[in-house]
Amino acid sequence: MEVILLGTGGPRPDPRRMATTTLIRLGDENILFDAGRGVVVQLSKAGVALGAINTVFLTHHHFDHIGDLYDVMLNSWMHGRKDELRVYGPPDTERLVDTLITQVYDKDITWRDKGEPTFGGWKPVVATDIIPGPVLDTGRWKISAELVSHGDGLDMPPAFLARWMCLGYRFEAEGKVIAISGDTVPCPGRAAG
Ligand SMILES: [Zn+2]
Repeated sequence: MEVILLGTGGPRPDPRRMATTTLIRLGDENILFDAGRGVVVQLSKAGVALGAINTVFLTHHHFDHIGDLYDVMLNSWMHGRKDELRVYGPPDTERLVDTLITQVYDKDITWRDKGEPTFGGWKPVVATDIIPGPVLDTGRWKISAELVSHGDGLDMPPAFLARWMCLGYRFEAEGKVIAISGDTVPCPGRAAG
């Protein structure tokens, strides 16, 4: 098992660092956590076949963590992704992904689908809203989500906070545990990871 930090920067452009994305490589599986600015270029630099990306977990919906999710969705397809791309994240992840597919890149997807038959037809992207608790157990690896506190400027109304859930993940495989969180201050959820 290998963990590669593809991006460690933040929302402001930094010539030396791309925005937040972490990759776990486990055999032939490549699992992304977040999809920040530059993720696809960084995957290419790391020698990861873009068509081999089929699972993404999002920590939260700040743009430096999801800004290039569209690039993962489309480039994995263009590079031979055979299965659906699964995207898991906090509530509203389904709405975000659906908006990208049906309202932002619908024409691009149709254009490539019709104009590039060698791609073999559009391969779906399936988003799932998750909440803290067990998320997946594939037999080879399992993952659970914890509620974490983002910190900084969160004196927000309850109605907004109900839609603003930040998740940390506990990934277990090969007898090892990897904890991955997004922007997080010390909190019980981080300790649990
Ligand atoms: Zn953030």
